[in-house]
Amino acid sequence: METSTEDAAEETRGPARPAATVTDHADAAAETTAVAADTTATAASPAPVAIRPPTSLSPSRAGDFMQCPLLYRFRVIDRLPEKPSEAATRGTLVHAVLERLFDAPAAERTAPRAKALVPGQWDRLRESRPEVEELFADDPEGERLARWLTEAERLVERWFTLEDPSRLEPAEREMFVEAELDSGLRLRGIIDRVDVAPTGEVRIVDYKTGKAPRPQYAEGALFQMKFYALVVWRLRKVVPRRLQLVYLGSGDVLTYDPVVADLERVERKLLALWDAIRLATETGDWRPRPTKLCGWCDHQAHCPEFGGTPPPYPLPVRAADPGGAEQGRMGPE
Ligand code: SF4
Repeated sequence: METSTEDAAEETRGPARPAATVTDHADAAAETTAVAADTTATAASPAPVAIRPPTSLSPSRAGDFMQCPLLYRFRVIDRLPEKPSEAATRGTLVHAVLERLFDAPAAERTAPRAKALVPGQWDRLRESRPEVEELFADDPEGERLARWLTEAERLVERWFTLEDPSRLEPAEREMFVEAELDSGLRLRGIIDRVDVAPTGEVRIVDYKTGKAPRPQYAEGALFQMKFYALVVWRLRKVVPRRLQLVYLGSGDVLTYDPVVADLERVERKLLALWDAIRLATETGDWRPRPTKLCGWCDHQAHCPEFGGTPPPYPLPVRAADPGGAEQGRMGPE
């Protein structure tokens, strides 16, 4: 398995949001892996792809719609390009290092070895995603790049204070998952790591290079994990025993032990969300929802809240319900 992919690359989107949001490098990758239409193009996308209505949902895209329906439209329907960001690209790099370290024998999974993987994984990332070179185009002496790589090494090193990879044998790493609900809705994403105990208990682990959210925002962070738990439950008929978020930025670990009722609640939430997305897709009624997160949005030039105009809607539309939908007012749960 290789989400938090992120895979083909972690964040194919640009500067996303603060680390406490549901966006992560992983399932953005899931989306680049998949053929369906709900991926976001990057500035380096090779060729235009026929625009179709979305056919599946990932945690990142669900989070986009909950944050701002218009942002979802820009990313999924219009697929407007976004610039790579230092933070998201560093997240991709760190995820790659942590994933590759498990190639080594258990006794050799040390912090120095992990840090030594950083330069090589950075080279690989530049090869697979040449657009990341833009990040340091104005840094001819390489000073900012050196600091950026040092920070990546620091994040990798901190992992060893939170987990001991010499005592772990992941069942899966960077695992692309996809499941179809009874309603026909397809859910997909990439899970950073899956551990399976000898007793069969499953633990889903996701790495975050940002800081842990404050307690009042923990539910939002767990939404992504419950999403993955629902997918695993559907695929393997087993409710994961534990969901674990590892925050390398602050050195925190957030865990949650889900029960069936949690996953049923998330499923109901996703179905309601999908109904709202389908309605907006059919009517072309995508409403902006300005928040402080607009500061991280690449699309202010197209956003009416900032004096911009969205591009012509590329899909056929039908008349909207005059009552309108409560777009973007859904919380994670
Ligand atoms: S700038 Fe804010 S309101 Fe406008 S599309 Fe982006 S997130 Fe939505």
